[in-house]
Amino acid sequence: MKIKIQFIIDSEDQSSTEVIACIEREELTAETLGLTLQEAKTITSEIQKKMIGHQITDFVSHNRFCLCCGSTLSIKGYHPLVYRTLFGKICLRSPRLFSCRCQSQQSSTFSPLVQLLTEHVSPELSYLESKWASLMSYGLAAKLLKEVFPVEIYPSSVYRITSKVANRLEQELGEEKAMFIKGCQRDWNQLPRPDTPITVSLDGGYVHARKGNNRKAGWFEVIVGKSLQEGHQPRRFGYVVNYDQKPKRRLYEMLEKQGLQLNQDITFLTDGGDTVRGLPLYLSPRSEHILDWFHVTMRMTVIKQISKGAMGKDYANFEKQLLRTKWFLWHGNIYQSLDILESLIMDLDLYSENKAHKKYKLWRVVSEFYQYIQSNSHFIPNYGERYRYGESVSSACAESAVNELISKRMAKSQQMRWTQKGAHLLLQVRSKTLNGDLIKSFKQWYPKMDDAHNIPQPLAA
Ligand SMILES: [Zn+2]
Repeated sequence: MKIKIQFIIDSEDQSSTEVIACIEREELTAETLGLTLQEAKTITSEIQKKMIGHQITDFVSHNRFCLCCGSTLSIKGYHPLVYRTLFGKICLRSPRLFSCRCQSQQSSTFSPLVQLLTEHVSPELSYLESKWASLMSYGLAAKLLKEVFPVEIYPSSVYRITSKVANRLEQELGEEKAMFIKGCQRDWNQLPRPDTPITVSLDGGYVHARKGNNRKAGWFEVIVGKSLQEGHQPRRFGYVVNYDQKPKRRLYEMLEKQGLQLNQDITFLTDGGDTVRGLPLYLSPRSEHILDWFHVTMRMTVIKQISKGAMGKDYANFEKQLLRTKWFLWHGNIYQSLDILESLIMDLDLYSENKAHKKYKLWRVVSEFYQYIQSNSHFIPNYGERYRYGESVSSACAESAVNELISKRMAKSQQMRWTQKGAHLLLQVRSKTLNGDLIKSFKQWYPKMDDAHNIPQPLAA
């Protein structure tokens, strides 16, 4: 059996029929039933070439006239214009036209196609490249695109497109401000009844740095956050600490997209790091800032593990003191918990100079925990009471933003090293993708993209 795929063009100016591909089938087997991926790639890339060819011819013939006097403009010559699409790279013949004499005495030229196609990548290709690159490595994204579409794609071009998209997103971000609260209590009272409370967790994470060929470039800090609200999809944001100039604006925009109203309750749960403490200030008049119970317990678990090996026969007593500390902290009794910690440190003080001793490490982590509780004391509420009232105390129930934004994409292997700029830009695309907002940005930039009216109707037989 021979199946011919034809391309029929039917317009006012022209009508033509061309054969695009001929598929032959003999014996029917599971693998010969229907189109193969390779055939589909060939057919779509052939359709793409023909379709674009006709569209360009049509466009040029309609734009060869002077808009003022209507006379035909003469062609000075043609230039190649390479345009990359999901269905292949197309080399266009872009005409250079002489401007009309009625416009100016000097002879000048212009290229209508160059003016039309300012970017040489189709919006859909650029969308898929940046979206997939935010979910997997640049190399993998290129391989995957190559596997399913008739395109020749390299990791470097995926990287370039993703950076371009990220830069465009960055340019659209508003100005940084110290204060985002607008209006006064009287205005806020007039707002409609707000939605359910929002909880935002703010955490710090680390990414392996890259500086030239220096393999010991170390790490840099990234702050990420996630907003949680009953009955709504969570949203995320992130930035590189020493690179970003607009951290507050970023957090503010995430809350705005979440639908935050100024009369709505919002709780910020922070990991207690120095860099996140000031971030949520002056964003909402009805906000609370508390130390995430999840991070308190995580630190205590580490102390417990170390003490098991270090304390020997005294472990039972040490554990008892640790549990008391936890109980006091849970009830917001900072004074009592610091008191216990202080006596534990005093008992271990003997080993503070002896780095080789196994109790030295325990002394260090308990001392650090003491510092941690002390410097976050303003953010330690009565967790027990909050918990009984159904208010948020911990981000432990949701997948952490650190895991979603950093670990899964930027810290999978030791080989992955990042520049601050590269990591920051990728974070922007990744959070947009996970929030479901990347396609919205593309539709704003290219309003006709994925238009519902453009969905082709199958022809009736
Ligand atoms: Zn003219």
